[in-house]
Formats: sequence, C-alpha cells, structure tokens
Amino acid sequence: MGDVISSFGSLVFGDAVMRRRLPKEVYRSLKRTIEAHTPLDPAVANVVAAAMKNWACEHGATHFTHWFQPMTGVTAEKHDAFIAPDGEGRIIMEFSGKELVRGEPDASSFPTGGLRATFEARGYTAWDPTSYAFLKGKTLYIPTAFCSYGGEALDQKTPLLRSMQAIGREAKRILALFGETDPGDVTPCVGAEQEYFLVDREVWNKRPDLIYCGRTLFGARPSKGQDLDDHYFGAIKPRVAAFMQELDEELWKLGVLSKTKHNEVAPAQHEFAPIFETVNIAVDHNQLTMELMKTIAGRHGLVCLLHEKPFAGVNGSGKHNNWSLGTATGENLLDPGRTPAKNARFLLFLLAVVKAVDEHQDLLRISVATAGNDHRLGANEAPPAIISIFLGDELTEILTAVSEGTRYHSRSQVQMAIGVDTLPHFPQDMTDRNRTSPFAFTGNKFEFRMLGAPLSLAGPNIVLNTIVADALAGFADALEGAEDFRQALDALVKDTLRRHGRIIFNGNNYAGEWVVEAQKRGLLNLATTVEALPLFATEENIRLFERHGVLSRAEVVSRMEITLENYAKTIHIEALTMIDMTRREVVPAVVRYTKQLTDSVLAKRSVAADLDDTLETELLRRLTGLAGCLSSQLEELEASVTGAGRYADKKDAASYYQAEVFFNMQTLRGVVDEIEMLTGRGDWPFPSYGEILFSVV
Ligand code: ADP
Ligand code: MG
Repeated sequence: MGDVISSFGSLVFGDAVMRRRLPKEVYRSLKRTIEAHTPLDPAVANVVAAAMKNWACEHGATHFTHWFQPMTGVTAEKHDAFIAPDGEGRIIMEFSGKELVRGEPDASSFPTGGLRATFEARGYTAWDPTSYAFLKGKTLYIPTAFCSYGGEALDQKTPLLRSMQAIGREAKRILALFGETDPGDVTPCVGAEQEYFLVDREVWNKRPDLIYCGRTLFGARPSKGQDLDDHYFGAIKPRVAAFMQELDEELWKLGVLSKTKHNEVAPAQHEFAPIFETVNIAVDHNQLTMELMKTIAGRHGLVCLLHEKPFAGVNGSGKHNNWSLGTATGENLLDPGRTPAKNARFLLFLLAVVKAVDEHQDLLRISVATAGNDHRLGANEAPPAIISIFLGDELTEILTAVSEGTRYHSRSQVQMAIGVDTLPHFPQDMTDRNRTSPFAFTGNKFEFRMLGAPLSLAGPNIVLNTIVADALAGFADALEGAEDFRQALDALVKDTLRRHGRIIFNGNNYAGEWVVEAQKRGLLNLATTVEALPLFATEENIRLFERHGVLSRAEVVSRMEITLENYAKTIHIEALTMIDMTRREVVPAVVRYTKQLTDSVLAKRSVAADLDDTLETELLRRLTGLAGCLSSQLEELEASVTGAGRYADKKDAASYYQAEVFFNMQTLRGVVDEIEMLTGRGDWPFPSYGEILFSVV
C-alpha cells in the first residue's frame, strides 16, 4: 500500500519535485508560465533544464527526447544523450535551456498534407510546460508541440492548446456576465474509457492480417462469440489480471490516475479508465497508456489489439470521451448547481453544447472518421453515424418547461424561471444504460462515444473545444450589453432550444425508425469516412477554425488530405495482405485438401466400385465450385488494387478504394470464410476465430 502511495508519480518531474528542486523565484516564474501562459524567461529555462537533467540522471537516465504527436496518430521521439566532451577526453552530462525549450527534428518524413510544398521541410518542437516531463527507461521525455518553420501546426498538440485557449476565453465572457470576473483559467477536462482486446502472442503470430493490419481480414464465425453475455464484468483470468496490475503500477509511477478495469462484452475484450484530468494531459496520458498496454502485453506473452474492429461479428473497441469544463477553483460548469444563479449558468453552458453539436454534426463525425472506425459506427454495437444528444427524460422535461414557460411537474411543483428558481435535483438518467447515444449528458459531463479505440483524443477534443467556444461566443455577444439581462437570457434560452432542439434524442439510436426520424429532422447521416471528410474544408468550417485561432485554412486542408490519404493507405495495405494470405496460404490449403478428398475417392474405388463416396464427392463438388469463385475474386481484387494508381486526387483515391477495393475485399472474404467452414481444422493455415478469441486461458 505504502509502496503505491510513495511511488505514485515517481517517474514524473512534477510540481512537487519542481518546488523542491528549483530556486523559489524560478519555480514561481515557471508556474506563471504554466498557469497564465506567459512567455518563458530564457534564464529560467536554463535553471529548469539543469534541475531536470540532475533529477533524471539521479534516476539513471542518460538521454532526453522531445516527445511529440505528429499526424500519424501515434507519438514520435528521437533520443539524444546528455553527454558532452569536457575537453580532457572525458564527458560531462549537460542539458541547456535551449535544448529543453526547442528541438529541430527533420519534419520531411512526417505527414504534412501538402504543407511541405508551401513551407520549409524542417520543423521544430517546442516544450509544453503544462504537461510534465517524465522518465521512461533511461530517457527523459519532454512533451512538446511540433510545428513547421512557418509556424504551421504539424501535430495534434498545437491546435489542442489553441482550442483550450479559445474555449477558456469564451467561457470567461459568460462567467463575467454572472459577476464572476476572476475565475482563473477555465479548462476542459477529459476522462477516457479505453477498450482493447488481449490475445495470445503465439496465436497472433500465425495471423499476418493481425500483424500487418491489426484486424482479421478473414475468419468464419465461431460457434460461440459474445452470445451468452458471460464475459461482461466476468471474473478476470489470472493472466489478464497480472497484465492489468502491471499496467496500473507502471501508469501510477507515470502519474496517470489509472482507476477502473473490467472485462467487456466480447470474449478477450477489456476496458480501462483513468480519473479525468485537463484535456491536454489526458491526451498525453492516453497515448502513454496505449503504448504501455502494448509493451506490457508483450511481457505476458500477450498482444494488445487496439483496432476499432479486430473481428467481424464481434463487438469492436471504442474510446469514450467524457468531457466537462472546469474552473481553476475546481467548479464544474456542467454541474447543475444548487442556487438560482447557478441554474441559469448551467443552462447556458449546457445549451452551448447543444447548439455546438447541432451546428457542427459534420465536424464531430469527421473528428472520429478512420477506415477502421467505419466498421463500427452504425454497426449495432457502437453509436450510429448520426449525431444526436441524449439528455435524459428528466432534463429534457425541464428544458421543455423552461422554453414553454410551463410547469415542470414530475418532481417538484414549480414553474421554472431561469435565474430565479433552483433547478430540481435530477439524478443521472438510468434509461441510457443501453448506451446507444453517440453524445450523452451523464449528470455533469458529456460522453462522446464515437471514438475508435486507437484514436488520439486530440482530434475530437480540438473540435469539441472549438465548437463550444463558438457557441459560447455567440451567447456572450447576445447577452453582453443587453438592457435587461434576465429578459435577454430568457429569450436566448428559448431561441436556442427552438433552433437546436432537434439534436436531442432520448430513444434507441440503433432502431431503424431513428434513421428515418433523423432524416426528417434534417440531421446528417455521414455513414463513411469518404462521405464525411470532404466537408472538413467547407468555407464555413475554415472560417470557424480561423475565427478562434485554432487552425488556419492551410492547416484544415492539410488535415483533411492526411486523413483521406490514410484511409486509402489503410485499405491498400489490407488488400495487399489479403491477396498475399490468399495466394500463398489459402490457395495451397484448398489444393491440398481437395487432393486429399480426391485421393480418398480414388482409393475407395480401387477397393470396390460400389463403395459409397458421397461424402467426399459432395464436399469436393462444393469446394471446387468455391475454388473457382476464389480464383476469379482474387483476380478482381488484384485488378482493382492496380487500378487505384490512376487517382492522384486524395478524395478520388479514397472514394475509389471504398467503392472498388474494399468492396472486392468483402466479396473475397465471403468466399474464403465459406471455404474455411468446409476444410479440416488441421488443414486450415490460420488459427480460427474461436482459437483467437479464446486463446488466453
Ligand atoms: P461509466 O458509467 O460511463 O462507466 P465512469 O464512472 O466509469 O462512467 O466514468 C467514466 C469516466 O468519466 C472516468 O474516466 C471518469 O474519471 C470520467 N469523469 C467523471 N467525472 C468527469 C468530469 N466532470 N469531467 C470529465 N470526465 C469525468
Ligand atoms: Mg462510459
């Protein structure tokens, strides 16, 4: 016990270490930079760098790295030793303020989405003092932002930090209207529930599709999947428990508040959740968590799958983004509060989210769009591709009462008047336990549930912060300088509900009727990445991001291109893997197996002409028929992959990959899965779904 408490954060150069190791003045100056975003004094940087280096070296470190988050979805690092020659043939350990504050990695091999054409290829990394440095192995990791020399963001952190400033700024305008003129920083907080699969490493090793693509491209349905619902919250197997425990302990040392772990619905599926923190740190910590999950799984002879949909017909893995807005004093602005003044404030922040989500359904959908996530969204296990907000019956009734000026009956017989009445207490609505809503209000936070498991939290939160900032700005514009504040507030609330109430839906999002109803309401239904992504760079969206200083036109266009290119590349790799597995393993297996059957028939006939060989000949007939389909489908797929070379434009290429290549992959898969069901277990070249999903004993 004591161990856990004393080792928590032991690998982090955090606040307590800084206070202990830095001269008072330096510490104060750094705190001002962290909290008030003032520029860092170079003299201060030198002292901090020396203290960091000494602390790191005392913990056995020899190297440092600027750790950043390029547009690859994962993190990047290049390690430099602290060593410097002392001029007498020996070395000293050195680390300057300049090295801490700025690095210059070669940016030319990271995705830039066309920014490279207009700006220099070189990039630089800039220290983000709001996210603490930490130790991993023998290296000091310094969280940094990554930009081009022209100052264009080449990463996820830069626009995230910009979006945090935007929402903080606009939220403070609203607070000022309620007389809260000095609330300190207002920051978004995020707690992310992370789903993942664990499979046995030896089984995984025999599946090139899992190795190269992170998901199975073939696999007939097993006799048992998640049908019995016996895995959810089931007893955790010792091998998995050992993995989870080690993960907890490593994360605690890194200052990550790892809190909850349990088995998920699908066999071999599990979930992890930390306690929420400031979004910037939550993003960094989630990246670290995903990375550690993979490394630690390896130590237990396991492989951690973070793909959105590793297995067809079995639930995929998502990531739930729990989001709220907090003040420096620890108040949650999405908490209903207990006084009349708080009720008005709460309603404004709540309605800002309602307005933002309704106006920018496209951007939220785009922020979670990847080739992998297309398999999940709308697949009756994850939220549909249609965005709507769940508020629960109780809160919805309150809002209706407010907007119509009628009585709210169900609990307290009060007529709701904003800013006058106390909101009745409404418990978290239990009707949403089916979790079909993509964007649910859960008492004091919103839970955005469309993220795929491997996605960086940054993208969706950049969008969320920006669109809510925009809605808050609109509210502030309408209320600042109003002659009668109460009246203006009342009108604003009613008007917002009238315009944006259509986004509120408390029913079952999986139901077919909802698709029809949503269409009637005029809500967007962007089923795939290819449909969604081009909307990223509409004039309206570019103006939105520019208005709040989050992304420039060039940055928006580059991000759109990177995502579309990624989509095409993902399907390209999957198609090549499929072709390779089919040609070099499935085809030989079919040939071998049909030969065995033929041999058996011939052998029987040589014994006696009237021996019954119906079993073999029927099977042979079916397999031979399927083998013919296999051959033609394989050729179709190969031809469609070759045909992709014709498309230079990113949108055209992505559309082609979806319509042609992906379509042919699905057809080929159907044939192969059917053949698998007819082939002897020992004669099939890959572990089956059952063998993979139940591989961890
Ligand atoms: P669920 O019912 O969805 O499983 P949990 O209680 O497990 O909910 O919480 C899910 C996540 O929400 C956790 O990471 C938790 O820290 C986070 N969370 C709780 N309160 C807030 C908040 N005010 N803002 C952001 N995240 C929060
Ligand atoms: Mg949840």
